[in-house]
Amino acid sequence: MFCVPKYIFVTGGVISSVGKGTIAASLGKVLSVRGVKVDFLKIDPYVNVDAGTMNPYVHGEVYVTADGGETDLDLGWYERFTGITMSKLNNLTTGQVFSSVIEKERRGEYLGQCVQIIPHVTDEIKSRIRRVAERRGADVVIVEIGGTIGDIEGLPFYEAARQMRLEEETLFVHVALVIYHEPTREMKTKAFQHSLQELRRIGIQPDVIVARSPKMINEEVRRKLALFGTLPKEAVFCSYNVSPVYRLPLVLEEQGLGDYIAKKLGLPNNPDWSSWRRVVELYDRATDVVKIALCGKYTAMEDSYVSIREAIGHAAAHLGVRAELVMVEAEELEKDPTALDSLRDFDGILVAPGFGKRGTEGKIAAISFARRTGTPFMGICFGMQLAVVEFARNVLGLKDANSTELDPGTPHPVIDLLPEQRVISAMGGTMRLGEHEVVIREGTLAYRIYGSTSIRRRHRHRYEVNPDYWDQLREGGLVFSGFSADGRRVEVIELPGHPFFVASQFHPEFSSTVESPEPLFMAFVDAARRHRAERSAAVTSQALSG
Ligand code: GLN
Repeated sequence: MFCVPKYIFVTGGVISSVGKGTIAASLGKVLSVRGVKVDFLKIDPYVNVDAGTMNPYVHGEVYVTADGGETDLDLGWYERFTGITMSKLNNLTTGQVFSSVIEKERRGEYLGQCVQIIPHVTDEIKSRIRRVAERRGADVVIVEIGGTIGDIEGLPFYEAARQMRLEEETLFVHVALVIYHEPTREMKTKAFQHSLQELRRIGIQPDVIVARSPKMINEEVRRKLALFGTLPKEAVFCSYNVSPVYRLPLVLEEQGLGDYIAKKLGLPNNPDWSSWRRVVELYDRATDVVKIALCGKYTAMEDSYVSIREAIGHAAAHLGVRAELVMVEAEELEKDPTALDSLRDFDGILVAPGFGKRGTEGKIAAISFARRTGTPFMGICFGMQLAVVEFARNVLGLKDANSTELDPGTPHPVIDLLPEQRVISAMGGTMRLGEHEVVIREGTLAYRIYGSTSIRRRHRHRYEVNPDYWDQLREGGLVFSGFSADGRRVEVIELPGHPFFVASQFHPEFSSTVESPEPLFMAFVDAARRHRAERSAAVTSQALSG
């Protein structure tokens, strides 16, 4: 639309995880519904090149982009809110910036110069930010700087942003926590004020303030924040707790954020919220509950399975039900066999992706429970691999069958390394990653779910169903209903005769948006809903006959 892209920088104060990701995504939505072409950049000031080798316990889920990037989970929010496909270019880290500056230095590109943070590192950062604008010819790039203002590692990025104010049309949005102080039942702005001072100390004056607080801030708080931010009151907004989170763009719009930014940046200002309102209302209309167990090993960290949680929520909303997702710690199922019994409370069991041995026997026990009791089951990646292990052990009777990831000496390696992985030893970015075609076999449940013989889905794995065991598994009754395009690897398994037992090697959770839920999740939640209805009908008829 414009020849010169504009840049919105989002900074955070007081605490990390203040909600910048969903606020940046909401900003994207607020502009998209005005016909503005947006793109995003998430900056992570850590030295890792990407998020691939980080523990989900610490950093939350690793989000996989279509082009195979292992990125920060905020890219997931950008996709779920706007439907714009992210790429690895949309996540920038200190590791990437420094490796490229050092490579250039070694090549002699800075010959004769002393290579410094300013200008070499900041120039590299600015050129990476500008590259995002070129990716899809964006009118506006929303640049979210991860971490908290005042962090040492963020400084080169803030400095690059400060310089861009002179070179481009920019807008700075500062998001920080307003603390609710329980004893006096007051909203306290002191920490917020300090974060504004910190921002100014490095030369950044915000244009917009977003107060993050549990409830809407009152006029007095707004007045104070405006005063300390050297801004008119109209530039102060509040992101309070909303459910579902997809309501946030509407909440910010109602406060006038869209208008304010559109005027400041000279953008079109005719928003059309009709379709977004419709999907948000789906959540309000949902009445019946389905209870889903999410069995994994990073259950203590809320964000470890965020894409799965959201994908279940999208599917449930479109089916008119409310999904109650309960994290079940796989290791607990191992330690306490009676814990398995608690799985009876659930209408569906989902076994999560994962790596390494901890908790795997618990996951296998949960799968076995689902298979034997006819409880709807969905497995993702590791969840599919362990379903194959469970089937091999308990249906085919192959004692100690396992994945070689977990037991390299297993007598029955039903899950084994992908052939191309045998020569790889480096850990960063070396899995089978990103979007690949999946060919679905006609006449299967997977075909009924997807209604197509060809889909594209994202991947992140090193292991696969061992071709040496395909015949045995199939003879035992397991159906392979999806394959890679070359037919050499299994992508989907299912169990006929079971109400719903489907697992995929790919990750469907990275292909679900609130406006377009992913079919496999839809089918799973629907099966869970039916299972619940049948169970309650059975209870009623038992009560009547008893
Ligand atoms: N650890 C398994 C593999 O590498 C599964 C990975 C996953 O669940 N994403 O193949």
